Amino acid sequence: MATVGELTASYENFLVPVLAPRAGVCAVCKTSVLPGYDTCYQCKEHRRALSGTADVVAPVALSVKGGQWAHELSSYKNSPSASARGSLGLRIGAVLWRWLDASPRTLVTRPAHGSRATTGSS
Ligand SMILES: [Zn+2]
Repeated sequence: MATVGELTASYENFLVPVLAPRAGVCAVCKTSVLPGYDTCYQCKEHRRALSGTADVVAPVALSVKGGQWAHELSSYKNSPSASARGSLGLRIGAVLWRWLDASPRTLVTRPAHGSRATTGSS
């Protein structure tokens, strides 16, 4: 059985760190936004279209369109191969494990009522 470190070793070269809060960064999902905007288009549309939106978003890494992480998340969700989805699920779960282990305890131990984890790719 592979360790969490072994399962995540290949990700260390291409995961993109989440941007720090500042002007030009979406207040919700932490992606970059155009000058003058507080949120990205997707977060703005989620707030407009949904009656309830997330009260806390804790991105693990930026998923850059066309990048390796985006490809991994998309393949995990959409691959026709159950074996590939299972393998990717194990590796992505190991990344989440490492992220939770390195995150502040208040984020991990006090989830909001009805909170859930999800990937941000489509
Ligand atoms: Zn956003």
